[in-house]
Amino acid sequence: MSVQILDGKSIAADIRAVIKNRVAVLRSAGGRPPGLAVILVGENPASQIYVRSKSSACAEVGFHSEMHTLPTTTSQSELIDLIDRLNADARIDGILVQLPLPNQVNEEAVIERILPTKDVDGFHPYNIGRLALRMPLLRPCTPKGVMTMLERTGQPLAGLDAVVIGQSNIVGRPMALELLAARCTVTICHSRTKDLAEKVRGADLLVAAVGRARFVPGDWIKKGAILIDVGINRGEDGKLVGDIDFATCSVRASWITPVPGGVGPMTIASLLENTLQAAELHANMSVWETDGKP
Ligand code: NAD
Repeated sequence: MSVQILDGKSIAADIRAVIKNRVAVLRSAGGRPPGLAVILVGENPASQIYVRSKSSACAEVGFHSEMHTLPTTTSQSELIDLIDRLNADARIDGILVQLPLPNQVNEEAVIERILPTKDVDGFHPYNIGRLALRMPLLRPCTPKGVMTMLERTGQPLAGLDAVVIGQSNIVGRPMALELLAARCTVTICHSRTKDLAEKVRGADLLVAAVGRARFVPGDWIKKGAILIDVGINRGEDGKLVGDIDFATCSVRASWITPVPGGVGPMTIASLLENTLQAAELHANMSVWETDGKP
């Protein structure tokens, strides 16, 4: 059986086309466009690239988007004030604070300040709690994008042995919650995990979110496994590579995501989906209390 490539670039383009249509329908019915506010603090070059691609994706589907670029010296209270203003702004459905933030700012406090219905990154404890309880609302974008790709394989997930390498709040943990909700048997591995190779060898489905170039070699891969590579790293030649060694792993897998062109575009597509979902929630706000909780 030869490996099939899970083409995130093309799935993401399909999702953007559907969203663009939906926005056109909303607009023709006299509604306002969904609105996303992106906050960037400081001058991290990778963050600058990420926020630019998020803004251009918004423009492509017809969202209102606005960039708030703040200096590295921004204080916690200045950032909180901006979030309060955006929470109260009826044109804004989603607020995204690009991470990481400078040291003087407490990331958790900033994320918790965003109204849960405007938390389009899905990082607020309210949204993570809902995912943990199998009643998801706004779901973290990267794991949500992975689930969309897995649906496209048409493979049933229930009962699969899934291994997630990485336990970060933005990828590994919510990824494990998503797979558990899909009724996989989930093992979460991290830097203190013993016998990582043995755990990965048992995986019908592997999600690698480590941040180390070509970290997973082919001889760790079970024949026929589904391989999802979240990692984005620079190889020795300066090119982007994932955490999974594509050449040696793809020959054993049934499905694999490439890097680039796999999970990355899906993360942005999920952000657009979440912003549209938030706009639809806000349009139906009568069922919500004023603090944004149902
Ligand atoms: P992180 O640094 O917060 O987490 C890395 C995780 O890997 C940690 O939980 C750590 O315990 C684990 N780890 C480190 N060394 C290990 C080892 N030797 N064995 C087992 N586990 C080990 O990173 P993150 O924010 O979760 O991101 C992970 C990767 O995914 C990065 O390359 C990042 O650039 C990429 N990323 C991609 C997208 C996307 O859209 N494709 C989105 C977010 C992050």
